[in-house]
Amino acid sequence: MRVVETSAGNRLMQDVIGLEERYGAHNYAPLPVVLTHGRGACLFDEEGRRYIDMMSAYSAASFGHLHPRLVAALKRQLDRVDLVSRAFHTDGLGPFCEDLAGLTGLDACLPMNTGAEAVETAIKAARRYGYDRLSIPHDKAEIIVAAGNFHGRTTTIIGFSSDAATRRGFGPFAPGFVMVPFGDTGALEAAVGPCTAAVLIEPIQGEAGIVLPPPGYLSAVRRLCDRHGILLILDEIQSGFGRTGRTFAFEHEDAKPDGIILGKALGGGLLPVSAFVARRALMDVFDPGSHGSTFGGNPLAMAVAREAMRVLREEKLPERSARLGTILLDALRAIDHPAIRAVRGKGLWAGVDLDPALINAKDVCMKMLEGGVLTKETHATTIRFAPPLVIAEDDLLAAVRVFREALDDCSLSSPSSSVARLSYAK
Ligand SMILES: *Cc1c(COP(=O)(O)O)cnc(C)c1O
Repeated sequence: MRVVETSAGNRLMQDVIGLEERYGAHNYAPLPVVLTHGRGACLFDEEGRRYIDMMSAYSAASFGHLHPRLVAALKRQLDRVDLVSRAFHTDGLGPFCEDLAGLTGLDACLPMNTGAEAVETAIKAARRYGYDRLSIPHDKAEIIVAAGNFHGRTTTIIGFSSDAATRRGFGPFAPGFVMVPFGDTGALEAAVGPCTAAVLIEPIQGEAGIVLPPPGYLSAVRRLCDRHGILLILDEIQSGFGRTGRTFAFEHEDAKPDGIILGKALGGGLLPVSAFVARRALMDVFDPGSHGSTFGGNPLAMAVAREAMRVLREEKLPERSARLGTILLDALRAIDHPAIRAVRGKGLWAGVDLDPALINAKDVCMKMLEGGVLTKETHATTIRFAPPLVIAEDDLLAAVRVFREALDDCSLSSPSSSVARLSYAK
């Protein structure tokens, strides 16, 4: 198999993978490919082999790799100033906040760096709002979250995860979170109590396997929050910036949140840029000294993020995602294969559930890698398709063809499947 051939290039690949093994933490299980270049929807390995990117770094690379306008914006800013601190004003922050408030339809922005930090910001805002505005007793505020959620990796956030691998051995966890099934309005209503400050959900659960709630769920949750006078906070770190065929997933339903959490694509694939964006009354729980981040809102980040928002609009990426998303879903649904249990998606964001009795999703990803398509299974049984929104239609359809072939090659009844499993173990 390709990865164990002994050409010079492949030896390089084995070497750098070996260094990771030896000196790195083993908190990921990457596929055996070393990517050294990227452009648009494609990545290249050290031998120059081309791969179609169906991961987009979990939407962080939604604009494609090294988008020329984003690279240019970063380079322009590098000729001016790098980062100072929030102790002083810089000329990028105000315009960034104006642009992002305009894009979301909300009032005020608080930039951070990683997604998890923006989620933490939202949690702090919701709790303080609960005490200051909803008269919840001191230290009793509750936030309702959904089973199957993924909001990041800090100790507070994993404390309200329902995934055992995410939590094991990392407790004790912070109290103040109540979990309900995703997509179940009745359960949510029943969970609201006198100490509830907010509901915090993803509009579509990405890491759970691109799980869509039933139609009408988001608008029902919006009305429920209004009725109880509590906050609706949406984590659109992965679903935002065109991924679902609208700028934000909440736009598919009448479900404008009180606060929205953004990240990933906001940094244009170049830098970690995240933000909590909220109604003014919610954002105003923060006063000087109550929250901050050394790198949050730095000039380089602001320059790239502002250009990312312009690219989103001028290249009409949400519309493109909607159009190509229909093509993607149609192509996936047209595959007639016994191992496929379900095909879900919205925009350029699809998940295909495979029957583990008939096929091993890891094998399928390995076969797709050999066929020049990069993706990774989630929850052992779901293959995800989340290409950069700039992907060409031909590449999109080519990726589906490679997937189709991988299904045949990997079916557990076929003779090639044992080969695929063996090579993965190496
Ligand atoms: C990736 C992700 C996060 C965490 O973002 P990081 O930048 O990895 O901290 C939070 N919420 C959702 C929905 C995500 O997809």
